[in-house]
Amino acid sequence: MKPTKKYQAAKASYNVTRAEIYGERDHCCEGCGTWQGPIACSHRIPVSKRPDLRCDKDNIDLMCHPCHELVETGKYDDLANGKAIHHYIAEIDPQYLQEKLNRRDFLAA
Ligand SMILES: [Zn+2]
Repeated sequence: MKPTKKYQAAKASYNVTRAEIYGERDHCCEGCGTWQGPIACSHRIPVSKRPDLRCDKDNIDLMCHPCHELVETGKYDDLANGKAIHHYIAEIDPQYLQEKLNRRDFLAA
């Protein structure tokens, strides 16, 4: 299937955001501080949930793969920037935060 113009525009704008973030921040993981391995952009609230926040730099952290997994599973307490992530999501989308924490607790039980 051919990508739509809207999708292409969104992708181009995200590429700009990503390049800006790489230019502005240290290339280390914001969750654990490692410089090892691939460090990639990780969305606090995923694009699938909030496409409107795809290019919101406050919604994006540079993270190693293990820390990205912690965000995915709602284990914010294990991250150096976990409080900031928690506060951001609580402010922007409290319902999503609750879903995430409920799921984390369900998996831990
Ligand atoms: Zn990390």
